[in-house]
Amino acid sequence: MVMPMTKCAISKGTSLVASGLFFAALFCVAPLKAQKCSVSPVQVKLGQTLRITCPADFTSVKLNERSAKLYLRPDGKRFGLLPISVKDAPGTGSLLISRNDDGTPQSLPVVIRKTIFPSQNVKLSPEIESLHSTPEEMALLTSFRDAISETRSWEDPLQPPVSGCMTSPFGVKRLHNGKPTGEYHGGVDQRTPEGEAIRAVAAGTITFAKQFNVLGNAVGIDHGQGLESTYLHMSRLVVAPGAAVQRGDILGYAGSTGRSTGPHLHWVLYVNGVNVNPAQWVKLVPCSGAAKKR
Ligand SMILES: [Zn+2]
Repeated sequence: MVMPMTKCAISKGTSLVASGLFFAALFCVAPLKAQKCSVSPVQVKLGQTLRITCPADFTSVKLNERSAKLYLRPDGKRFGLLPISVKDAPGTGSLLISRNDDGTPQSLPVVIRKTIFPSQNVKLSPEIESLHSTPEEMALLTSFRDAISETRSWEDPLQPPVSGCMTSPFGVKRLHNGKPTGEYHGGVDQRTPEGEAIRAVAAGTITFAKQFNVLGNAVGIDHGQGLESTYLHMSRLVVAPGAAVQRGDILGYAGSTGRSTGPHLHWVLYVNGVNVNPAQWVKLVPCSGAAKKR
């Protein structure tokens, strides 16, 4: 294996020189090709995910206060996902990529671009607006987001869970009945007829499949190495926690359960517990009349 750092070697000379003294020669060689990490994209929008690929001896990446593990791939390189939150500050940043042996870390510049998200008002009936999550539901979702499993089940490309157009994109600032909620849309909404099959975006393990007050009938999948997805407001669930699913497997059927105003699929992609924009991962076509960037 070629170490990416400068290698030094000591050659103990055994030849006798004219003076009759032995000598030792110290010499250093720079590696012919330095192995470095790379990041994609170099310019990232809020809500997007950075992909970091490195030689095997790099094991973690950090940007400001957020860090992510780099996992060994079958090809001998390491790979990791680092999310950029909707709430992060735009500007120039520096990824600090560390080695397992405390050797010299590598830094890579990234530009977090200013990203403008539209606003969208949602009209809710008093009954629907009064629905709130229980502490148990909040705790379940928190532990789901916080858990990162070591084995990667997902592969590119992800599959859209339904084929319908997007009625509400990721990142939209939400108003309920005209009042700002201070929340943003943490996933995407796709148009679905009632009863349409909802499919897994990638292989993984079902973490939860249950009814929630706000989310309705919902499924959470752990795809491994920091990637997770959830699917909400379904009329019926056909999977159980602990089950292994493949990309495209049916999880349940579309509905309007929980805080929902009509049949649709709201689904969410998480990277290391941070909501990320699914539109970076799958092709989604906005419906005509959907919230657009201003
Ligand atoms: Zn939604």
